[in-house]
Amino acid sequence: MLIAGNWKLNCNINEAIDLSSSILNNLNSKVLRSEVALFPPTIYIETVYNVIKNSNIALGAQDCSVNISGAYTGDVSAPMLNDFGCKFSIVGHSERRNGKNESNKDVYLKAKNLMDFKMIPIICVGENAEDRERGNALDVIKKQLEESIPKSNNEFIIAYEPIWAIGSGKIPTLDSINEMFNMIRQWLTNNSMKNNIKILYGGSVNKGNAKELFSCKDLGGLLIGGVSLNPTEFSEICIIAS
Ligand code: PEP
Repeated sequence: MLIAGNWKLNCNINEAIDLSSSILNNLNSKVLRSEVALFPPTIYIETVYNVIKNSNIALGAQDCSVNISGAYTGDVSAPMLNDFGCKFSIVGHSERRNGKNESNKDVYLKAKNLMDFKMIPIICVGENAEDRERGNALDVIKKQLEESIPKSNNEFIIAYEPIWAIGSGKIPTLDSINEMFNMIRQWLTNNSMKNNIKILYGGSVNKGNAKELFSCKDLGGLLIGGVSLNPTEFSEICIIAS
C-alpha cells in the first residue's frame, strides 16, 4: 500500500519543515508495511527532502511539465524533479484537469516523461457529480484511462478520485469504489499491463473512514489532501494502513 499526502498549495517554508518533521517523528520508529510519501509544493521539495532523507518516508511532486526542457517559462520537468529526490509525481489531478484545462493528452505526456526518467507517475482519474448522477462514471473513467495512461511496462499508479468527493466530506459507497476498481483492474488486464499496479482511492479520506476504506478488496493505498496537513491524523492513518 501507498499512503500519499498531497499538501497542495499550502505551507510556508517553516510550516513545511514542521509538518514533515512531525510526520517523520511519528513514523520513523515504526515498522511500516505501507509506503508513505509526501507531496509538498514544488518550491519546498528540497526543504522536505532534507528533513526526510534516509528515512522510511518517500518524496513526490504534485505535477510536472509536459516538456523536458526548452522555452517553457515556469515549468518544472521530470528530470528536474528526479534531481531533487522525487520518487513519484502526481499527474492529472482534477484541480489541474479542470482548473488548468489539462487534457488527457497532457496527462499522458507528463506520465510518459516521468516513466522515461525512472519516476513513478500517480495518474489521477475521477468523474464529476453530474457524471456520477447520470450513471456515466464508469465510461468517463474508462476514457480517461484510455487517453491518459501510456501503454508501458514501467511502474505507475492509478488514483481514483471522484471529483465530488475531493474536499467535500463525502465518500462513495464501498460497493461503488469496488465496482470502479474492478473496471480499472479489468482495463489493465485487457491492455496487458502488470497485475501489481496499485489503484489508490482519494477524496475526503480521514481517520474515521480510513478503516472502512481499507476493506476495499483491491485498494492499493490512499491519496490524502486536507488531512495530510494534520501530522497526527495523517500519521495515524499510515499506522492503521500497516
Ligand atoms: C486530493 O486533493 O487529492 C484529495 C483527495 O483531497 P481531500 O483528501 O482533501 O479530499
